[in-house]
Amino acid sequence: MTPESTTDSGHAPDLMDKLVSLCKRRGFIFQSSEIYGGVGSVYDYGPLGIELKNNIQQVWWRDMVFRHNNIVGLDAGILMNPEVWVASGHVGAFTDPLVECRNCHRRFRVDELPEIEAENPTDQQCPVCGTTGEFTDPRQFNLMFKTFMGPVEEESATVYLRPETAQGIFVNFKNVQESARQKVPFGIAQIGKAFRNEITPGNFIFRTREFEQMEMQFFVKPGTEDEWFETWKERRLDWARSLGISNERLRLQKHGSDELAHYCKDASDIEYQFPFGWQEFEGIHNRTDYDLRSHQEHSGKKLEYFDQPANERYTPYVVETSIGLSRALLVVLADAYDEEEVENSTRVVLRLKPSLAPIQAAVFPLVKKDGMPEIAEKLAEDLRGKFNIFYDAAGSIGRRYRRQDETGTPFCITVDGQTGEDQMVTVRNRDTLDQTRVPLSQVSQYLHEAIHATDPHA
Ligand code: ATP
Repeated sequence: MTPESTTDSGHAPDLMDKLVSLCKRRGFIFQSSEIYGGVGSVYDYGPLGIELKNNIQQVWWRDMVFRHNNIVGLDAGILMNPEVWVASGHVGAFTDPLVECRNCHRRFRVDELPEIEAENPTDQQCPVCGTTGEFTDPRQFNLMFKTFMGPVEEESATVYLRPETAQGIFVNFKNVQESARQKVPFGIAQIGKAFRNEITPGNFIFRTREFEQMEMQFFVKPGTEDEWFETWKERRLDWARSLGISNERLRLQKHGSDELAHYCKDASDIEYQFPFGWQEFEGIHNRTDYDLRSHQEHSGKKLEYFDQPANERYTPYVVETSIGLSRALLVVLADAYDEEEVENSTRVVLRLKPSLAPIQAAVFPLVKKDGMPEIAEKLAEDLRGKFNIFYDAAGSIGRRYRRQDETGTPFCITVDGQTGEDQMVTVRNRDTLDQTRVPLSQVSQYLHEAIHATDPHA
């Protein structure tokens, strides 16, 4: 992309609009219940979106669980005993101060309106309808969704949709530690849905009311937590870079003491420079023993660790890494989006890392005759299962290439008139546009090596 056509962050102008439209057109992301006019800030992932999401979560799981001998997985329920959320502090403190404009009835988080931070929010002007002096006094708004368990809708049957996956890990600390025979330091990793009744969701899938988190709680000996906190900050930043995200659009931001959550001793965010500014997409938190201690007090059950060699018993401290899967997907998409002029037209290309791309290779017969479709179909069939393959025989070859560029497919394989004679196909590289002749029998190995070259663990 040429510098004059970009914004400060180096992104295309109107990138968010372009992404929303591409995501819908190509089947990455749709608005939930669209035919009914949608529902507030919930999104559905289409055929390509789910592949990209699966690839990101598999890479996270691989790098977190498979590649660490002291991190194990868990999949806890979304619904939990409501006491969990009392103990964790969410019932009492998971709130945002909110004001409502009496004129247009729009609600705003106090900390998101710069002028409203001023002495008296009720005197401010509404950024939506422009009315001044019509804001209500700020009141605390709990972000947890409530529902009822069982046949009776009454207060005693209230349960919550979890607002984070972490508590499922804390309450299972003993179960996992003992059954997996883990010794401190060790971690528990989990991927799953979380729900927050956000007052001001927005920026497409950046802030939604239903989303997925990939969290890991690392249990350490008290006194070693600061060292582990530093280690995990570095590891997580390296991981973000390993997804192929531009280094200059990544940074670590330390929380000020006024920003720290009630359970945190220290926290840093990994931020990405979105078109709408620098924003968090992963948090690394030095959570002390707050959660385990709190659950011990509320449940009356011991959540301690016995260090046998040292003959010592303690409640471990926790360093948490918490990343939104859907927010990470937005980072990956925003960073991969590119436009360039090729042969007097604009080529839109998603420069996704090959191991993350929803489709790894597309297979085309150059034309639908002379035995080309048969060879191409057989090749596609042979490659399926090893790679995610898309077969396309419709339209000019140029249009087929462009469709795959927009989808981020790193390799397009074309069977042409020569193939029947020399058993060779043309492999076209999405980024360099180079075309290489490869023997039919070696296409699988070629793809494997090309993907492996940018992701040694793929
Ligand atoms: P924010 O300040 O953006 O509301 P947070 O500090 O409350 O986020 P955490 O509770 O630390 O976020 O959650 C960890 C991660 O979960 C975030 O870094 C983000 O990637 C993701 N996340 C949190 N809230 C949302 C949301 N409403 N929609 C999508 N992802 C979210």
